[in-house]
Amino acid sequence: MTPAFEKLQKHLKQLPGLGYRAAERIALHLLVEKPARLPALVSALEEAAVAVRRCDRCGNLAESEFCAICSDEKRERALVCVVEHVPDLVAIERSGAFRGTYHVLHGKLSPIHGVGPDDLNLASLRARMEEGEVGELILALPNDVEGEATCHYLTDHLPANRAVKTTRIGFGLPSGGGVLYADSVTLKSALEGRRGYQ
Ligand SMILES: [Zn+2]
Repeated sequence: MTPAFEKLQKHLKQLPGLGYRAAERIALHLLVEKPARLPALVSALEEAAVAVRRCDRCGNLAESEFCAICSDEKRERALVCVVEHVPDLVAIERSGAFRGTYHVLHGKLSPIHGVGPDDLNLASLRARMEEGEVGELILALPNDVEGEATCHYLTDHLPANRAVKTTRIGFGLPSGGGVLYADSVTLKSALEGRRGYQ
């Protein structure tokens, strides 16, 4: 292989879900089998790198100050579903079971992996709560040890506001997998069956 090929393969291998073999296959596909696809891919990457950012309010993907969900006046502002990552939000949206808004933490507390509260998208959630925007906080975080620890942290450290009800979904969700790997029907019943969380 050539140095440039190996460099490309090295970067592809760092992407989630791609091992050495898959990275090699993609690099060969792009450079040898279908080189005509390469310019469009390069320009899509460049465009996304410039255009896509985090929503100032919820942390979802956006191309301006606020994401499409935060900008949608038909969504119930007071209902805020807290998720670990953007794909969790996408899974819940796909289920069609939720008409509120979201807050994406971009992680969960994990002392072992060196993830502390400062690494999570908490400042804007705190601001949303202080502004009185939140009526119910629905914790849709993974039901593993780190997800539980994050839920406890949120209830202990977010602005104490008696008007905010905190609930937790999880009923019927696969243990450890959480929202992302649940099908739409399971997600819908998990949301509908959410319970008060202390
Ligand atoms: Zn948003």
